[in-house]
This record gives sequence, structure tokens and C-alpha cells, in this order.
Amino acid sequence: MAAKIIDGKLFAEGLRGRIAGHVARLKSEHGITPGLAVVIVGHDPGSQVYVAQKAKQTVEVGMHSEKYELPETVSEAEVLALVEKLNADPAIHGILVQLPVPKHIDSLKIIQTISPDKDVDCFTPASVGKLVIGLPGPVSCTPLGCLMLLRDQLGSLSGLDAVIIGRSNLVGKPMAQLLLADSCTVTMAHSRTKNLAEVVRRADIVVAAVGRPKMIQGDWIKPGATVIDVGINRIDAPERGEGKTRLVGDVDYAAAAEVAGAITPVPGGVGPMTIACLLANTITTASLINGLVPPSDLTA
Ligand code: NDP
Repeated sequence: MAAKIIDGKLFAEGLRGRIAGHVARLKSEHGITPGLAVVIVGHDPGSQVYVAQKAKQTVEVGMHSEKYELPETVSEAEVLALVEKLNADPAIHGILVQLPVPKHIDSLKIIQTISPDKDVDCFTPASVGKLVIGLPGPVSCTPLGCLMLLRDQLGSLSGLDAVIIGRSNLVGKPMAQLLLADSCTVTMAHSRTKNLAEVVRRADIVVAAVGRPKMIQGDWIKPGATVIDVGINRIDAPERGEGKTRLVGDVDYAAAAEVAGAITPVPGGVGPMTIACLLANTITTASLINGLVPPSDLTA
């Protein structure tokens, strides 16, 4: 394999170390303990595991953590009331409502009720607007994690050709904004893009966020390009035994790694960065809420 493997797990560990340092400083110098509240509705096993990880890592870096587990049958009004209560709580600087929520609850309504000052997922229209015009505030967690890995790998991204495959509000669109702000020439590809292989072939940076296992082929990759695979797909793995599964990304990793300059694995690439960036965003919002300048080493 020619490509350097970008170790997101290791990078996230280092980032959490820096975050813990900032938490300690906020406490000792300003008397502020950053607080993150996570709200989960229902019993989706995947979401439960993810939320438990978030709560554990929040405590590990020294932050205040609150977890609200609401039953599947909770009404929309009750969720909205909880969000309003957390908006007003001075011990809480970040609010995250784990999606998806049950169908009888309007997720957009919930998101729009979160105070933009505490919107650590960068979902509210106000946060998205700040991101687009470059004002300080939380930055979408997964794209922020991808940006950190890219800057660490490549240094300046200025002038590089970046292709993002996928245009979701969660990943693709904010990723494009961040790469544009770093002076990349950005192309966004999606399900209607023609000649996708050709589009990908001209990219110095490829960010794949599609949700289709191994869709991006090795021979689509420009030699030496940096490949960031956001996709998380569970596929059958009969080689591991009957009924076993494993996780793969959106990129055909083995083939792409023969050609790329550097590539993120799945798992162990972008995934670990997402939670670390959630914690970084909580430092940012805790700083801004208290009139302090957020630390700059949590985005670079
Ligand atoms: P969405 O389903 O919201 O978006 C998928 C995007 O891929 C859409 O823009 C869609 O295009 C595009 N697409 C679908 N099929 C094709 C195709 N054949 N060719 C080109 N583009 C295509 O997904 P998300 O952005 O939420 O997530 C993407 C992946 O990233 C998933 O695997 C998800 O699990 C993973 N993920 C990982 C995270 C992490 O922490 N590592 C965090 C968040 C997501 P169109 O708009 O035209 O339909």
C-alpha cells in the first residue's frame, strides 16, 4: 500500500488532551465548567451507544455532562419544554438532541428551538449562517473533524482542488463551506452528477459522504490525492463467521490506498473525530457565552 494511513483515533486523542487543558483553564481562571447536555428519545440501540460514548468522553475531559433519556412515547411539547429549560440553564453551554427522533416529533422544530448560542451540532439556521459568513461559533462536528485531519496532513489547503461527494446539511454542505474558507477550489458531487469518476479524478482532496459501501473506486483517485472517507456502512462479513458484519466506508479502501497519498480508514478515521469536535464546540460556546475568545487550537 502506498498511501499514508490517517489515524483519526490518535488525532482525536490528542485533541481531547488539548480540550481537557482548556477545560482546566476555564475552571481555574474563569470559574467556568463547560457543560454539555445530550437528549435522546426512544431506544435506538445505535444512538444509545453513541450517546453513552459522548457522555463518557465529556466527563473524561472534565466537563459537566447531563444525559436525558426520554421514552419513545414522549410528546413533542415535552421535548420542546426540556430544550427550553436547557436553553435557560447557566450550567449548560451545549445542547445536542440525538437524531433521528420518533416520527411524531418534528426534528426541525426541535433543532430550531435550541438556542444558537448552545447549538454545538451547528444545526440551527443561525449557526449555519455564521459558518457561511465566517463568524465565530460552533462548526459542524464531522466536517470540522475532516478539516483538522486535512490541515494536519497537508498544511495549507490553499488552491487545492477538493471534490466532496454528498451534499447533505450534516456533512457535504458544511464541508464545502470549510474548504472554501481554506481557499480550496470546491466541487460538490451528488446523485445527479455526471461522470463522477472523471470529477473525482481531478481532485487533490476527496471527501466521500454518500452512505454507499465502497462506491468510490481506486482508479477514480488521482495519484497522491488525500482521501477522507466519512461513510459508515455495515456490510455482511461471512469471512468472520455466520451472521457477522463489519464496517466499511464509501471508498474502496484497499484499491484507493494503492493510489492515494493519504487516506482515512473506516473505522478509525473520521468517526473518532466527530465526538472530539463536539467537545471542542462546547469549549467554543462556553467561551463565547462568557464573553471570552474561543481557543484557536481546537480548529487547526
Ligand atoms: P445523506 O443520505 O444525508 O446524503 C448522502 C448524499 O450522497 C446525498 O447528497 C446524495 O445525493 C449523495 N449520493 C447518494 N448516492 C449517490 C451516488 N450514487 N453518487 C453520488 N452521490 C450520491 O448522508 P449523510 O451526509 O448524513 O451521511 C453520509 C455518510 O456518512 C453515511 O454513511 C453516514 O453514516 C456517514 N456519517 C459518518 C459520520 C462520522 O462521524 N464518521 C457522521 C455523519 C455521517 P442527493 O442529494 O442527490 O440525493
